[in-house]
Amino acid sequence: MDPHEQVSSRSLANAYAYVEGKFVPLLDAKISIMTHAFLYGSAIFEGIRGYYNPEHDDVYILRLADHYTRMRNNGRILMMDMEQTAQQLADLTVEIVRKCGYHEDIYIRPMAYKSAQRIGLRWDQQHEFLVFAVPMGSYLTKERPLNLMVSSWRRIQDNAIPPRAKVSGSYVNVSLAAAEAREGGFDEGILLNEDGTVSEAAGMNIFIVRSGTLITTPVYDNVLEGITRSAVFEIAQELKIPCEERTINRSELYFCDEVFLCGTGAEISGVGFIDRRKIGNGETGPITKKIQDVYFQAVRGNIPQYKKWLTPVWNR
Ligand code: PMP
Repeated sequence: MDPHEQVSSRSLANAYAYVEGKFVPLLDAKISIMTHAFLYGSAIFEGIRGYYNPEHDDVYILRLADHYTRMRNNGRILMMDMEQTAQQLADLTVEIVRKCGYHEDIYIRPMAYKSAQRIGLRWDQQHEFLVFAVPMGSYLTKERPLNLMVSSWRRIQDNAIPPRAKVSGSYVNVSLAAAEAREGGFDEGILLNEDGTVSEAAGMNIFIVRSGTLITTPVYDNVLEGITRSAVFEIAQELKIPCEERTINRSELYFCDEVFLCGTGAEISGVGFIDRRKIGNGETGPITKKIQDVYFQAVRGNIPQYKKWLTPVWNR
């Protein structure tokens, strides 16, 4: 089943959204078709996961403060100074999840958007914040290693629309790559920079493994400064796996021992094939597995040292 269907097929009748200063039933939450952000993509957003732990009967929101810190920084790029502190936004988010009554895995979508209602590109000093949460399982298949392609679409550059900003309009770029991949029978697309070096996958960062060393593309190669990426650095350090940030050439993708993608949606997903070439032996590699094992336990609150990443929704 397409993971996206999981959201739409479940009933959202009891869910709430916070929009323009009010809590409203999610299915009634609407904004005007005149909204600048709708007309021109002038919004920034985050994607945050909450993981249910049945033994603890709690939902743990992952890296909540980090997401809102990134969002507030991104706001500067769009000249939107968000009034609420990261802590206030985090509190509001917990409140929304509680109001929805979720006891399952969820995905939270906050947005800050240009809210003026008029035609014209220039920006008014008017913006609003919204947040909602929906149930969500895996975004990418976990049943087998992923089958990727290098996209024919290039990654947007910092001086076009800064990729680190998570601007909604810029997501057409990664959507083109994701759509091209799905149409071609692949799971996801990898985007190259204009100079032909690797940037990231569509909505996720990329790691390769060469001779026991983890390598990921650096922040200046037009990637989002991923929060899962930083979690991988921390886990790698703990597991004493050397880790480098450096430019990656396309041919290294075919040459390396392992590849995995990481992101809030993607979690940590092993790659079996790129452009129909087998990566390693075509299975999720041993270093990827080690990192996955820690990550999936950590996000459900089963590893004490990583509890600092988690905000409990119910047992507060
Ligand atoms: N790159 C892009 C373009 C993304 O949209 C995402 C998802 N937010 C990521 C990487 C991974 O970032 P994070 O780990 O913070 O979810």
